Amino acid sequence: MVLPRCLIDDYDRFTFRYPFTREAKQRVSNVVIEDVLKDREFLLRCLEFIERTLRTGRIELPSDLLEDVEKLLLTLYTSIIIVSLLDKRLWTRFADILSKYFSSNLESEVDRECITYIAEEFGIDVKNVRKVVRCEKLQIFFDVAVPLHIYLRYCPRNDPNWKLVNRYVARGHVLLTYRDLARLVEEAVEKHIVNMLENASKNDIIREIIVEQIGNELKKLETKLLPRTALSISKLARNVSENQIFPPCINLILADVRSGGNPSHMARFTLASFLLNYYVKILKIPVEEAVEKVVDVFRSVADFDERKTRYQVQHIAGLVGGRKFYLPPSCDELRSLGLCPTEGKCRVKNPLGYVVKMMKSLRRERTENRKREAVNEV
Ligand code: SF4
Repeated sequence: MVLPRCLIDDYDRFTFRYPFTREAKQRVSNVVIEDVLKDREFLLRCLEFIERTLRTGRIELPSDLLEDVEKLLLTLYTSIIIVSLLDKRLWTRFADILSKYFSSNLESEVDRECITYIAEEFGIDVKNVRKVVRCEKLQIFFDVAVPLHIYLRYCPRNDPNWKLVNRYVARGHVLLTYRDLARLVEEAVEKHIVNMLENASKNDIIREIIVEQIGNELKKLETKLLPRTALSISKLARNVSENQIFPPCINLILADVRSGGNPSHMARFTLASFLLNYYVKILKIPVEEAVEKVVDVFRSVADFDERKTRYQVQHIAGLVGGRKFYLPPSCDELRSLGLCPTEGKCRVKNPLGYVVKMMKSLRRERTENRKREAVNEV
C-alpha cells in the first residue's frame, strides 16, 4: 500500500490524530503493558482522563499529553484496558467518544489519500468513484465507492440518510463523499475499540494487576458514572475477585486443581458445572467461550487430556450428548460426598446460590454507600 503524504510528512501528527492505527500501535510496541499497569500514579491519571471523557462526552487532553505522543497513546490504550473492567454501558460510550475524536480529525484532513489509506487499514475497501461509474455528474458529486457488504457492515444504524434506498449503488458499490467515508471509518474504529475492550476484559492477569493497584478507585468511579442505575449481579461479578464470591467447596476443588492435584470425578463434575453456570448465567459469557475457559482451568490437573476434557465440559454444557445444561450438585449431595468443608453452614441449597447471595450483599453494600455519598454531597 502506498503511504499517504500525511503519514510520510509528519509521523508524530499522524499517530497523534489517529491513535488506533497500526502505525500508532507500533510506536509503543516495545512497552511492556504489565509494567505500565503497575504504575499506580499513571493509572490514577488515566482514571481522571476516563472520568473527564465520560462526563464531558469529548476528549480533552491535558497539555503534557499534547506534547508527548507516546504518553498520549499509552494513556489511551491503558484507559481502554481500565474501562474494560467497568460496566459494559460505559464501554459503548467510551468507544463512541474515542472514535469521534478519530473521525473528526479524519474529516478535517486536507490530504484525501489519508482518509482512503486509513479506511483501508480498518478493512474498508475503497475505490475511486471513476473506476465504478462513468456518469460525469456522479463523478462530481461523489469521491469514492465501497463494496455493498462493507457499507452495510459499517453504516450508522437508525439514520435515514444512511438507508440503502437513499444511496447511489452501482456495480455492487455504494457511492460516497470523503466525508461519508470518514463516518464509515468512525463506525469501524468504534467496533475496533469495542474489540479491544472485549479482549482486555478477558485478560485475567491484567485485571488482577489493575484491581490490586486501583480496585477501590475503580469501583468508586463506576458508582459515580452510573449513579442512578442499580448494578446487576453480572456487572458486579466482573469487578470482584472470584475466590471472594465462590463458596468454600468450590475454592477447595479449585485449589486442588491449580496445584496439579487429581480430584475425584464428582469434584471435577462439581467444579465444571459450577463454573459453566457461573460464566454463562451470571457473567453472561457465551457458552462456547465458557467451555474454553473451563477447559483452561483443568489444564493443570495431573492427568489432563485436552480432547477428553473439552468433550466432557461440552457435555455438561449441553452442547453434545444429551443436550442438557447441568446444574452443580446440591449442597446436600456435596455433603454426602464429603465435598462440603463447612458441613452445610453457608445456608444455601446449591453452591451457585452462595455466589448470588454474596453478590446481593455486595450490591446492597454499594447502594448504601451510594446513598450515603449522595447525602454527604447535599
Ligand atoms: S454449604 Fe454448600 S456452598 Fe457451602 S461449602 Fe457446603 S456445599 Fe459448598
